[in-house]
Amino acid sequence: MARPCIGITTAHNAEQGNYYCRHNYIGGIRQAGGVPLLLPPLADQDELLICAGRIDALLLSGGGDVCPALFGEQPHWKLGKFDPERDDFEIGMLRLMVDLGKPVLGICRGLQVINVALDGTLYQDLASQQPQSLQHMQDAPRRYPAHSVTLCQGSRLSDILGATRLQVNSLHHQAIKDVAPGLQATALADDGVIEGVEASGQPWLLGVQWHPEVMWEHDQAAASLFRALVSACL
Ligand code: MN
Repeated sequence: MARPCIGITTAHNAEQGNYYCRHNYIGGIRQAGGVPLLLPPLADQDELLICAGRIDALLLSGGGDVCPALFGEQPHWKLGKFDPERDDFEIGMLRLMVDLGKPVLGICRGLQVINVALDGTLYQDLASQQPQSLQHMQDAPRRYPAHSVTLCQGSRLSDILGATRLQVNSLHHQAIKDVAPGLQATALADDGVIEGVEASGQPWLLGVQWHPEVMWEHDQAAASLFRALVSACL
């Protein structure tokens, strides 16, 4: 089969008038055998349908916060920057991909978008809302694996990573509060913070709270997450 085409969502800087994506998402997909295709946040439903129809899988990339109105909350005082256009596009695309039965991988913000799109909720700011939690916004270099996660035995995530215990990097201040119906939390940090979710069976739907895209060049487990997404298309 031809190499699968993986749509990667981009961030949007309205003030500067540009769209951007960190290069290591692109490299992660290419090393896994996929062909990356960057997707700007589009607002027209017909455009979303065309995008979802053309790509073989979707990678929801990392980025800023998710608008709390999308999960029925008022803005907490520690809420960070969010982009309503990006939120709407990514939620719309996720729902279309699920309807089409096409694979989706969410990274960091991407995991949060999957959860909100499927009617879950988030902590808007972990440090203030869960003050007993570990440090999840590490000061260490981005690729440094700062805390441990425990993976559910037999989960898709533990099968992909080949482990039930793993060291991951951590660059998030939001986190899942209530897991969406149809998703299972299959990775937890030692403080109970949800670090991975997945849907069992089809479609192939997986999210991780850490950033494998900055680890894959040096870490086989991180590289295998991108390979799993590409393999799910074949
Ligand atoms: Mn973390």
